[in-house]
Amino acid sequence: MYFSLGLKMNKKVFIQTFGCQMNVRDTEVICGLLEKAGYQMTEELNHADIILFNTCSVRQHAEDKVWSQLGEIRKKFSCRKRIPLLGVIGCMAQNYKEEIFKRAPNVDFVVGPSDIHKIPDIIKRLSAQHYPLNAIKVWQTNGNIRPEEIYHTGFYQDKEHAYVVISEGCSNACSYCVVPYVRGQLRNRNYKDILNEIKEAVDLGINKFTLLGQNVNAYQYEDVNFVKLVERVERVKQLKEFSFITSHPKDTTFDLFRVMADCEKLKKYLHLPVQSGSDRILRLMHRGYTRKFYLDLINSYRKIVKGGVLTTDIIVGFPTESRQDFEDTYDLVKKIEFDAAYIFKYSPRPHTEAQRLPDDVPKAEKERRHRLILELQKNISNKKCQ
Ligand code: SF4
Repeated sequence: MYFSLGLKMNKKVFIQTFGCQMNVRDTEVICGLLEKAGYQMTEELNHADIILFNTCSVRQHAEDKVWSQLGEIRKKFSCRKRIPLLGVIGCMAQNYKEEIFKRAPNVDFVVGPSDIHKIPDIIKRLSAQHYPLNAIKVWQTNGNIRPEEIYHTGFYQDKEHAYVVISEGCSNACSYCVVPYVRGQLRNRNYKDILNEIKEAVDLGINKFTLLGQNVNAYQYEDVNFVKLVERVERVKQLKEFSFITSHPKDTTFDLFRVMADCEKLKKYLHLPVQSGSDRILRLMHRGYTRKFYLDLINSYRKIVKGGVLTTDIIVGFPTESRQDFEDTYDLVKKIEFDAAYIFKYSPRPHTEAQRLPDDVPKAEKERRHRLILELQKNISNKKCQ
């Protein structure tokens, strides 16, 4: 069966996004670039000439969903005359690179998070070729710096709120985390470009923003650190409200709490992943802080940011986590009373240090611990809501 897209006028692109807010913003960036290149976005898979999966690798479960959907796409279009071009982008693309073609031969191209600006060209190249189905494979996973202009296409899915990437990648080395491998080391955007992007979005009628980074507190560009950046965003006219995600406890300062208390437009909301309440497990995770440090930080946050909302992430069943380690986490959640918490069962990730540790907490026990913390947090959240 032969395959040709011919001219790209009004060719339709379907994109499915998996994972975090960073991927949501990346999808918008890709849509903006493709629209500029003459493609049309569609929400109808059946109408698509090009299908893109913007993927996540943070847990095994997220990847399994993509592998199964790639299989369904193959079945769905195998007996059709017209077979859409299929691309896997994002963290799984960076994690597996050309391996993806072996496991899913119906995939035509693979593009990592730092190469997304190359997608229109790749589609154009693949489309211009008249070739047997799936004969040509393209993968781009060696980029590092994204060109600044990709953030200025003006494409936003939400007409009131926009995510604004302030930094890409992460230079922490939490032993369970695949992010530094799939998104690279920390790169901070120029604060002037960030403010320009916000002002351009304000001109489009958007007045609510979320500053995005794997660890926003580590932001630094020339003499502008995160606190100074927040103060500059606060001064943007017509901006109504903004917040930021995600913070890391070891880089969270009293200065940040003070600017949160002083800035009227800044939501009094802090997402501060603790991950575990056991010092031994925090060391194995390379989190860089202790249980006491975290508890003291929360006390200061609550003293300075009156009525501030607090949420967190917790991993249960990390390698060698004993019942006592788990009790320490349970006790910390009880003590702090978060407004909400995202609770995950540990799953080994490729290219991480923790992958070398024995995944020795039995599945049933991981589920028991997950259930116990979930029930505890549900009761706390319900009580707080009332
Ligand atoms: S701070 Fe740790 S958990 Fe968060 S993205 Fe960086 S390495 Fe991963």
